[in-house]
Amino acid sequence: MQKETHDFYCVVCGNKTLPCFRTGRLREKGHLKKLWCPTCKKETNCAEISNNYTVEMFKYEFEHHNFTEDGIRICKVDTMIKNMLEEK
Ligand SMILES: [Zn+2]
Repeated sequence: MQKETHDFYCVVCGNKTLPCFRTGRLREKGHLKKLWCPTCKKETNCAEISNNYTVEMFKYEFEHHNFTEDGIRICKVDTMIKNMLEEK
């Protein structure tokens, strides 16, 4: 099975966390995973950047406050991406 590093972005502060080795198994779009955030200095939910979930999508969600302080996503990813594309 192919190993690759995926970038993760903390949904609380919006900063990139340490990259994480992942197996090639596909996750759902914008998968959230508990990781240590060096900026928040605690474990937070971090969004996984992948083929179908880009940094641009994450920034859009973050700037539109789609995450609570506890790192819970409010609207569905697909809804947010649809909004993002309609704004263009
Ligand atoms: Zn953080």
